[in-house]
Amino acid sequence: MVADEGQTTFRDLGICEQLAEACSTLGWRTPSRIQLEAIPHALQGKDLIGLAQTGSGKTGAFALPILQALLENPQRFFACVLSPTRELAIQIKDQFEALGSGIGVTCAVLVGGIDMMDQTIALGKRPHIVVGTPGRLLDHLSNTKGFSLRSLKYLVLDEADRLLNLEFEKEIDEILEAIPRDRRTYLFSATMTKKVGKLQRACLKNPVKIEASSRYSTVDTLKQEYVFVPAKFKDCFLVHILAEMSGSTSMVFTRTCESTRLLSVVLRTLGLKAIPISGQMSQAKRLGALNKFKSGDCNILVCTDVASRGLDIPSVDMVINYDIPSNSKDYIHRVGRTARAGRSGVAISLVNQYEYEWFLQIENLMGKRLPKFPLELDEVKPLAERVSDARRISLMKMKEKSGNRKRKRGRTEDEEE
Ligand code: AMP
Repeated sequence: MVADEGQTTFRDLGICEQLAEACSTLGWRTPSRIQLEAIPHALQGKDLIGLAQTGSGKTGAFALPILQALLENPQRFFACVLSPTRELAIQIKDQFEALGSGIGVTCAVLVGGIDMMDQTIALGKRPHIVVGTPGRLLDHLSNTKGFSLRSLKYLVLDEADRLLNLEFEKEIDEILEAIPRDRRTYLFSATMTKKVGKLQRACLKNPVKIEASSRYSTVDTLKQEYVFVPAKFKDCFLVHILAEMSGSTSMVFTRTCESTRLLSVVLRTLGLKAIPISGQMSQAKRLGALNKFKSGDCNILVCTDVASRGLDIPSVDMVINYDIPSNSKDYIHRVGRTARAGRSGVAISLVNQYEYEWFLQIENLMGKRLPKFPLELDEVKPLAERVSDARRISLMKMKEKSGNRKRKRGRTEDEEE
């Protein structure tokens, strides 16, 4: 029988005093649903497949049992967590450290885009927990002297559906070869795909399957709406909504890296505090942008789907789908950025005539029709001139910037010659 959410405590689930204390220090009063369901099985030493939506507390669901097992049998290189993105890996490491700080847990994070040397030094300290993206972890396994995961006790694949995409397949196979078969394995995924099923058969032993949410559902505290917009007036709708919600934190999702840049310049030109984040930016710039957003310097994060997964930004009030994703599952991940951990949130989709099919697919996937957001074209039309001026100025600014960059590069090349 599964314990009641909100009634049961971490101690009731079998979590030891020190870790329960750590949860309360983090402000986690009671376990979330996925934690309620996963932790007792994990403490009994079972393998797990957890289907849990973003923001459900799944990191705690695997980190707490691992930390408890580590306390019982302290050992270096005890657990390895794999994540598809650098940001998520860093967040997972942060949660391990926050939960394990009282018991002296050490972690290393191995992700691309950051100097190998610093990571090698961190590995030299023989941490308990290693969190990483598959490519960089493998790089260290092959090239960092003295680093091996041959005595590993726990492997976690977070966002397993993504880790099992073709881009990581080879690396995951090689990592599985480099770690012992006799271990506990936890597989967490927001969506269950055939590939996840395949991996499950390949590397889990009689796993307990836990589904904290129906497959593609979103949390009840999330208000989802759409507004049908003529493509030409999309920016006006966006600006109107953002201006109305100026005291809130928002994430605006676009399809391409270019449009994150352009759109944030347009919004800034109009006096809104927007910042872009996309896969095209360097790791340092991405973290910088995220920090500006987290600290409140900027309250609008304009992003691609790179940012739709795994980023832990606790206080997003609103998600706007400026572009409707063609892959319906991306929608679930995007809107999962708001209404996290029991809070409420709003998701508004701006659907134009070319995106309607995709939007219907999203509704079908969720098995429900979404209500209309009450905003009419006539209300946003007065913004049209200002918005189109801002777009023109922004395009000019961006052209100038890229011209300057080219000129600079040209000069360096001349000097080199
Ligand atoms: P996750 O799904 O692991 O990314 O967690 C989402 C957010 O929920 C993080 O900010 C966690 O700190 C927070 N969180 C996790 N477990 C709990 C809990 N039991 N109570 C309150 N917040 C939690």
